[in-house]
Amino acid sequence: MPVLVMKFGGTSVATLDRIRRAAKRVGVEVSKGYDVIVIVSAMSGKTNELVGWVNETSPMYDAREYDAVVSSGENVTAGLMALTLQEMQVPARSWQGWQVPVQTTSAHASARIEAIPSDNIMASFGAGMKVAVVAGFQGVSPEGRITTLGRGGSDTTAVAFAAAFEADRCDIYTDVDGVYTTDPRVESKARKLDRIAFEEMLELASLGAKVLQTRSVELAMRYKVKLRVLSSFEEQSDEAGTLVCDEEEIMESNVVAGVAFSRDEAKMTLVSVADRPGIAALIFTALSDAGVNVDMIVQNISEEGRTDMTFSCPTDQVARAEAAMDEAKGAGTINFAELIADVDVAKVSVVGIGMRSHTGVAAKMFQVLSAEGINIKVITTSEIKISVLIDRKYMELAVQALHDAFELDKAA
Ligand code: ADP
Ligand code: ASP
Ligand code: MG
Repeated sequence: MPVLVMKFGGTSVATLDRIRRAAKRVGVEVSKGYDVIVIVSAMSGKTNELVGWVNETSPMYDAREYDAVVSSGENVTAGLMALTLQEMQVPARSWQGWQVPVQTTSAHASARIEAIPSDNIMASFGAGMKVAVVAGFQGVSPEGRITTLGRGGSDTTAVAFAAAFEADRCDIYTDVDGVYTTDPRVESKARKLDRIAFEEMLELASLGAKVLQTRSVELAMRYKVKLRVLSSFEEQSDEAGTLVCDEEEIMESNVVAGVAFSRDEAKMTLVSVADRPGIAALIFTALSDAGVNVDMIVQNISEEGRTDMTFSCPTDQVARAEAAMDEAKGAGTINFAELIADVDVAKVSVVGIGMRSHTGVAAKMFQVLSAEGINIKVITTSEIKISVLIDRKYMELAVQALHDAFELDKAA
């Protein structure tokens, strides 16, 4: 039997009624002759609540226990989905990550999937089971502890299962009907894309578009998974939603495919560090050892042998970054005058593979921001993206102005 993977996100399983709607859609695919692997998220809001409980109980928590707690949301929806399918006379059972088993690394709270043996689930399909409902976002480490894959990780579970079971398709059901030129909640003129290239989706996701977890796009690209994003709230045809595919499968596309943003950024400046070989290695090794994910980096021109080093990181890692730098200063390894944290910044990025062959995108982006009176604090570029750090209060304005200027509401 051909296998299909269907993933339902938090809002799509937020109530028993929505679970029933999702289950009906699964039933339709079963009646077409598929063996279906359903990946479920926790009910919307549940994971946030669980994370909150962990933080309240233990601010410097043991990540293994964090995973034990936050993985539980998915267990509930997996069981409820299996029960709902059974009520509809569809043979189904639930699987927690360790039962499959979804084998991951031991990097708790951000584990990577290493292998998904297919024999257990295949044996159950062979015995007449039609649907395997798998709790997303979780796995088991080599030490036998429960792990989670990082926020939004159920997308990655879904793509990894599609690759492991050579599924015909991996359908990601969510609360929007596809991938848009930017978050439709910030720009009402955002346009749904029928297709988007893997590379562009990868950049958009890593720059903040949370419609797909970055790692899920990486896996889909590597294993050539047919990945589709579509709404669980509307009736869908086989052509609905957005197909994430190879660049060659897209006929026409704009130079800029989309605008992404990330609200929770902080800009950190180490004032007056010695400008000598090895200083950047010392700073960023200390930050990396402390688990800080550094994104943008700028080093100023030096004056009298000293310079300022600026970097950005997620706001919830500021305390960790400060502690690491204070420790290094105390130990005498890094000397600096002060560390200034600006936690009111956001990152806005434009992404498009057309930038490889078109010049002028950066110039236009900077002109647009300048016309709105928005000051740029840090800039980074790659072959297919340009990112700027700006004051957070201008984030929506910047997204809308860029969307307008690059005419993203119009198809190519
Ligand atoms: P789920 O719970 O189904 O995993 P998420 O909330 O993780 O859903 O992701 C869907 C959300 O992603 C949408 O509601 C939308 O606000 C946001 N989003 C951000 N950027 C985009 C984009 N470019 N296209 C579509 N949705 C986007
Ligand atoms: N429930 C998890 C989260 O909220 C995983 C997911 O929904 O993909 O991050
Ligand atoms: Mg999600």
